[in-house]
Amino acid sequence: MDRHHFYRDTWAEINLDKISRNVKSFKKHLPDQKIMAVVKANGYGHGAYQTAVEALASGAELLAVAILDEALALRKQGISEPILVMNRIRPEYVSLAAENEISVTVFQKEWLDEASDFLKETEKSLKIHIKLDTGMGRVGITEATELYDISLLINNSSKCEIEGVFTHFATADEWESPLFEEQRKRFIKQIDLLEKWGITPKYFHSANSAAALRKVEGPFNLVRLGISMYGLSPSAEMKEKLPFPLEEAFSLHSQLVHIKKLSPGDTVSYGATYAAKEEEWVGTLPIGYADGWQRRLSPGAEVLIRGERVPIIGRICMDQCMVRLPYKMEVGEKATLIGTQNDQTIEMDEIASLANTINYEIPCLISSRVPRVFVKKGRISENMNVILNF
Ligand SMILES: *Cc1c(COP(=O)(O)O)cnc(C)c1O
Repeated sequence: MDRHHFYRDTWAEINLDKISRNVKSFKKHLPDQKIMAVVKANGYGHGAYQTAVEALASGAELLAVAILDEALALRKQGISEPILVMNRIRPEYVSLAAENEISVTVFQKEWLDEASDFLKETEKSLKIHIKLDTGMGRVGITEATELYDISLLINNSSKCEIEGVFTHFATADEWESPLFEEQRKRFIKQIDLLEKWGITPKYFHSANSAAALRKVEGPFNLVRLGISMYGLSPSAEMKEKLPFPLEEAFSLHSQLVHIKKLSPGDTVSYGATYAAKEEEWVGTLPIGYADGWQRRLSPGAEVLIRGERVPIIGRICMDQCMVRLPYKMEVGEKATLIGTQNDQTIEMDEIASLANTINYEIPCLISSRVPRVFVKKGRISENMNVILNF
């Protein structure tokens, strides 16, 4: 392994070839839809820039992030494709967005009034996606009168334009959901209204991964792909009905840094919650909750060493944790916490279930202290080490 840009014995590997194949599968699944790759939260922990580049090279045409800073970072790194900020930005930053050709999300008339003043600071025109709340209950316009006011204001302004109109589903990952169907119908009704008022934006979009996998029907021409692009299923229910296989791109690895033999009664870690019943071999791994390897994962989680499952024992510490080995092993031996060794796989979903959460949260929480190693065309292409600014 190329250790050029990091010095610790724990790393995450991001397989960009898998991300590429996932995007290409979607392109085949939905040939008439444009793909917006969602790379918020550092690409769900996979590396926003690297994921964005790979997705764009594989058929995605637009990007989405949650906050303006994330969009600006991508521009700084040289990405020139359209980027949408899906959350509210402050009105005072609209000229910054316009100058960087970053599209913004609007769902408040007061915001638009304030933003209009700030747009006087720039020559550039601001691209806007209007957000409708059709049942998610988070952000978005709910009243047709407000939609009318906002859309006509933008349409009549020389400083901004409507690039898209969108909504977000609350239950697309549940197979039998009346709300999903209700939201779809409400959104189509709003689109019909806009058409009646003579407003014809370039994009109408509603689908997240779950809706894109199940193909939501309507006059939509763009899907926003997050979790599934990374190879993870939006829910357990969806996992059983995937229209094509998804490939998990994220894996997590460490190495044994210490081995010891315990005698019966010897205890392990804070609180001495684990006591050896017999003579046991125990190894130490240099990964802990400060790396996002959550304390609640023990007892319960296992790791793979030499293709065998071995349990984590005792409490997970900030920087280290311990595993019970079946026999004496060597310092330096590779341990896989998420991913595959030989014929054994620990999926993201297994870890999510042990942590009592969804798969989305697990890679997001693997902290910036864990360097990312990128694999492209089967080989290591790049390392990212935030601590050392690589
Ligand atoms: C995060 C997000 C998505 C992506 O959702 P996935 O389930 O990860 O595909 C799409 N749209 C909006 C508005 C989001 O916030």
